[in-house]
Amino acid sequence: MSVELALSASAVIKVYEAEKGIVQALRGVDVAARPGSVTAIAGPSGSGKSTLLRIIAAIDVPTAGDVTVAGVSVSGMSPRDRRTLRRRSVGYVHQQPTDNLLPDLTIGEQLTLVANHRGASPADVERLADLLGLGGRLSHVPGEMSGGEQQRAAMVRASLGDPSVIIADEPTAELDSATTDAVCELLGDIARDRDAAVVIATHDPQVMQAADHILFLRDGAVQSETFEGVERAVIDSTGRIQLPPEVLAWYPDQRVRLEFDPETNTIVIKP
Ligand code: ADP
Ligand code: MG
Repeated sequence: MSVELALSASAVIKVYEAEKGIVQALRGVDVAARPGSVTAIAGPSGSGKSTLLRIIAAIDVPTAGDVTVAGVSVSGMSPRDRRTLRRRSVGYVHQQPTDNLLPDLTIGEQLTLVANHRGASPADVERLADLLGLGGRLSHVPGEMSGGEQQRAAMVRASLGDPSVIIADEPTAELDSATTDAVCELLGDIARDRDAAVVIATHDPQVMQAADHILFLRDGAVQSETFEGVERAVIDSTGRIQLPPEVLAWYPDQRVRLEFDPETNTIVIKP
């Protein structure tokens, strides 16, 4: 590949051992993101979006599969080394504005703290705050700001120190439609301005519109991917394709005849 990837994950499996039993949250997911691009991880609630984000952010480890962030393989890393990798290479924006910001410090104070921790300069804080339209709000505490402003502050925070990857888990879930538009545009600006790979989990079509690349998860597997407006089903490395539920209903006994037409490279699936 000519362009180096900021992030890649292959055949990622995640199994949780919960009280009710074992949950297969991810069943062999591949994802890759280039610097300067915005990737949306879409899918209904429970499809595995947050699990995938935590794994590609090196917050959590997969049960199986490989994850590489900023050229470094996360497999077999100690929690401490993952922490170092995250500080250097990953910015994270949580869904709830209150999870991203400290309530008692002004935005300027907390961004300065994070900048010091991540080796960014005060000038960087100002430049990013201006880029995201927060320049005049640095002396306010989060409680004095709107939800949209708080999420913008969280995006500045996540971008300090030029991480290769910026990950946001449903960052617009609490926002109205106009603010969502603004936040999506800014995530694109950050990706291009910082040459970062931005990855956003969402089930909001408005956010998907702002992405260069959309991955649709269903039941822990990638059902389809959209590049440049063209949606294509994904065939995984073992040859499996996931059918959308409405199509699956055409095959009630889940046994089908496949007819191959080599002339047109077409497969027909018959009940
Ligand atoms: P999404 O973000 O798309 O809503 P999640 O990644 O949160 O999906 O969850 C995927 C599946 O994994 C769900 O069935 C969820 O209940 C389960 N799950 C998520 N986290 C845990 C956990 N810590 N322990 C057990 N099950 C979990
Ligand atoms: Mg989630």
